[in-house]
Parts: sequence; structure tokens; C-alpha cells
Amino acid sequence: MARRSRQQDPESLRKELLDLIKNFEVELKSDDLRGKVIALVPAHHILRDLGSSLIPKGVAASARDRIILYLTKYPRQVIKGDELMVISGIGEWARRVRELRVQFGWSIATGVTAKEMLEEGELDLTEFGIERLSPDNYILLDESQDRDAAFRWNKANEIRKKKTAVKDKLLEFLVENVGKPVTGEELRYVAGDKTEWARRVRELRTEEGWAVTTKNMGRPDLPIGVYLLEDTHQAPPHDRKIPDDVRRAVLSRDEYSCQHCMWNHSKWNKADPRHLELHHKIHHAKGGENTEENLITLCTVCHDKVHRTEK
Ligand SMILES: [Zn+2]
Ligand SMILES: [Zn+2]
Repeated sequence: MARRSRQQDPESLRKELLDLIKNFEVELKSDDLRGKVIALVPAHHILRDLGSSLIPKGVAASARDRIILYLTKYPRQVIKGDELMVISGIGEWARRVRELRVQFGWSIATGVTAKEMLEEGELDLTEFGIERLSPDNYILLDESQDRDAAFRWNKANEIRKKKTAVKDKLLEFLVENVGKPVTGEELRYVAGDKTEWARRVRELRTEEGWAVTTKNMGRPDLPIGVYLLEDTHQAPPHDRKIPDDVRRAVLSRDEYSCQHCMWNHSKWNKADPRHLELHHKIHHAKGGENTEENLITLCTVCHDKVHRTEK
């Protein structure tokens, strides 16, 4: 059974530990392996107690509270899992981190999810001064808690259990939260923790024309590590299959603004929910290519207008 760590005066724990280690000298010299192991057990317990006592009980009484307190004290810094093990004082610390992420709405990126986003070009960690995260690394990306997370969590669980394809689950969750940011961690959870999740989300954009954006892909105003489906309108087939690097280059060249009316995301409002799309100057059907030179950024309103008047 999992043992709860005891929080008390760190200095008395330190002394207790020292005494135990000192007395261990005798066991170490004996041939009694089991005796040595049993003598070390309390030392392990006290070491955990000491870790969990670094934050006083009155400040954070549970392992979960200690973990989030520690992360909010060092936001946007790479934290090793081992540090969370020490401060939580429990063996099950990784599960507590997951609860903080998906149930309590804290934006904690883990090395595993970050790696999968990086591979799909959806994440850029250079602002943290690093290129990648190790699987056992964590970063608190944002110090504010997302209060809607618990509601999304119920929906995520419902969709996760369905017997549909991973891509369908991801789309259902994104459509359910249209116009609202969801984290990569949530999408991974919805996908049943399958590593393919990030690739499938990208395919929803590049192959099926769904307006799935990230900070690195069309929406520099978004927080890092989140995805947002802009509306439930799929791009027409002729505008799909634009390579991501070309899409990124065109949007950045056009400064994330419609080149006809200069609309950009800072002007977004509920009554007029536009987003940005790429339009082929020479139409795809007429041999126009998916190149930077042949593509231009338009808002959905201007884009529709262009196609209506050209027909
Ligand atoms: Zn426009
Ligand atoms: Zn077009």
C-alpha cells in the first residue's frame, strides 16, 4: 500500500536520517542481506518525509498541492521529474501531475507530449532557451489555471472511451471546443495516449482542411502548447495539402493579416467569427502551385468573396 509521507520539522528529520545512516555502519559489515535491506527501509521513508517537509504543512498539505506550488514557483523552467518526486514525497507523483494537467487545468507540458508536438512542427521551445525536452522533464507554461478544464475533462473521457478512430475522436473533441484553446496534453489523452495523436491532428488540417491552429502554425498570439479549431468550416479541397512550412512562411510574410481587408486575429469577435486561410493566386486546378509566390493570406470573408466573384 502506498505510504503517505509525514510532514514535520525538516531539521529533526535530518537528524533522524543521520542517526539511521550512522547505525547502518554495523549492518553493512554483516552478511545478513535481508537485515541490511530492512534497516534501510526507514531511511528511505525519512528521506521522502524530508522532501515533503521542505514545504510546510500549512502551506501545502497534499502531494498534489506541493507539486503545483513548486511548479508555480519556477514557471517556464525545465523541471526534472526527480525534483517532483522529492517535493511530493510520494511514489505516485506522476499520476498527481496528470491530474493537475487534465483535471485541474494547469498547463504543464511534459517531455513526451512536447516531443510529439515538436515532430509535427507544432511547437517551438526556443523562447525557453531549449530545443527539446527529455521525456522526464516538465514545464509549467502558464501560471493561470484554466477553470473550464474540469468540464472539458468530462467530455474528453466520454470521447476517449468511444470505439472510433483516433482521428475521429480528436476531431470530435476539437469541434466540441471550437474557438477555444485545448492543450496538447488533453488531445493526447482523448487519443488514448497513442503517440500518433499529433500527426493525426496535423492531418486534420493538411488533408481534411480543418482550421486547426497553434502558436507555431498561424496563431502567434496563442499560448505555447495549445491547439485551437477556429471554426467548423473545412477549407475547400483545392486549398488543402499546402505543406506546413509553406503555410507558415506565407502567414508570416503577410503578417498574419488578410491581404484584402487587413483583418487579423486581434479583431476577432463572436458576431463576426473569421479566420485566416491561404488562397491560390493561380488556381490549383489551372496548374497553380503550393508555393509561397502563388499563395496569399485572406480572411474567410474575403476568401469567399473572391471565389464567388470569380465563378
Ligand atoms: Zn479580409
Ligand atoms: Zn482560394
